[in-house]
Amino acid sequence: MNTDNINEITLEEAMRYAGENVDAVVIADGKKDVYRTLIRRGVFETFLEKDGSYHDLIEKLWYHLNNSSDTVIEGYRVFIPTAGKFVGKYSKRININVDSITHIVQMTVYPLVSQEVYLILLDELDGSQYIDETLTTKKVDTIQDTYLFSMYVDLIKDTTNSISITEISDEVMNQQLKYSDWRLMIVNMIWPEDQDIFLERTDPEYLKKNLSVGRTSSYDCLMMNLEGKYIWVKLIFRRAETANPDDFRFVFMVQDIHESAEKLMTTLKTYEDLALKDPLTGIYNHRQIETEMDNAIEGIRKDGGSAAIMILDIDFFKRVNDLYGHSAGDATLVHFAQVIDGFVSGMKAVAGRWGGEEFVVVLYNSDADKAVSTAEALRERVAAEQFDKIGNITCSIGVTTISADDSISSAFDRMDKAVYEAKSVGRNCVKAVFR
Ligand code: GH3
Ligand code: MG
Ligand code: MG
Repeated sequence: MNTDNINEITLEEAMRYAGENVDAVVIADGKKDVYRTLIRRGVFETFLEKDGSYHDLIEKLWYHLNNSSDTVIEGYRVFIPTAGKFVGKYSKRININVDSITHIVQMTVYPLVSQEVYLILLDELDGSQYIDETLTTKKVDTIQDTYLFSMYVDLIKDTTNSISITEISDEVMNQQLKYSDWRLMIVNMIWPEDQDIFLERTDPEYLKKNLSVGRTSSYDCLMMNLEGKYIWVKLIFRRAETANPDDFRFVFMVQDIHESAEKLMTTLKTYEDLALKDPLTGIYNHRQIETEMDNAIEGIRKDGGSAAIMILDIDFFKRVNDLYGHSAGDATLVHFAQVIDGFVSGMKAVAGRWGGEEFVVVLYNSDADKAVSTAEALRERVAAEQFDKIGNITCSIGVTTISADDSISSAFDRMDKAVYEAKSVGRNCVKAVFR
């Protein structure tokens, strides 16, 4: 081709030049599910077969997350409606992966006379030019917020349309998918425990009954994203304001709220701990251990069975503070709490700090004998422990069993009497007082 004077370049020459430079030319028949490769160069020598299944080719070319070579998980592919069916010219930038190397490809589809026969041109692009573009797109994405998915639903006609899956494409896709079918497919993407509420809230009758015109309703659940990872999303329905009151049309949106939801969970857990746990030792606090005692009494009242409580009072703890200082005393309390908590961890029992250097264990499924032997084992466990520079410490334990007509205070009084007795007879021992 003579390039000195562009006026002399003919269309034929230009087209020949294009044919010599494009990396792949493919003809496909959607109905017969076949494709034939007319030209393949470079990466397409391995990527494309000479002849193959059109469906397979579409799978390889299509199901990528925007701007990446990552493919969309199987379950979401039904929502990529236009894949493989084109009514007009279509062009898209895709990334394909061959031998672990990502290639950026411009794909252009020309539907031929018959609507399901296509001419497909594939051209690998120069990577360096593409980077700027990706960065810009990413910036726009962050500004555009976090909507993953949206669509328009008509409950009367049982249709969905104007589907947009942000992560796959900026374009709105038109899909001939029934709303009732869509619901039963997408439910598989929802976290199993959240599936019932999803089905309830997306039920046409529920939506008709609960959302008046212009109303918006939303709820959060865990949903698998396009990469197959469960994330927190907000599912939002808005009933459209149409002129006809018998219309039931909705905009449905899925918003990615994963980051903020995770932060919220952490905060909630912090508040939960503040309410239930003793700040120094991290085991249950006085209030929570009282609740456990109450539960034990209630349980026996309702279902029978048995339960016991014990109080552990560290012997001569004042001396620890006096000899080693208050902060060493604190560390010892933390260590002591860990010993008790570790001791009960395999049992149906909970431990908490009653206050000061006193700790309480609620022991479920335990009669008098078992309660005393468990207390004795715990006393030995404490006596054997090395408390850092403090060395060995001991504790006195008071035990009682709980009966159906106990109150917290009547049960506590017996336990308190028992520990007083343990102190009186010389400490480092277990005493029990029963009714
Ligand atoms: P006994 O064998 O009779 O139980 O002797 P004791 O010294 O353990 O008992 P007493 O009730 O006389 O003293 C308890 C001590 O526990 C006094 C108090 O300073 C200390 N104590 C209570 N709460 C804390 C705490 O949170 N941190 C520290 N470091 N010491 C505490
Ligand atoms: Mg005490
Ligand atoms: Mg004490």
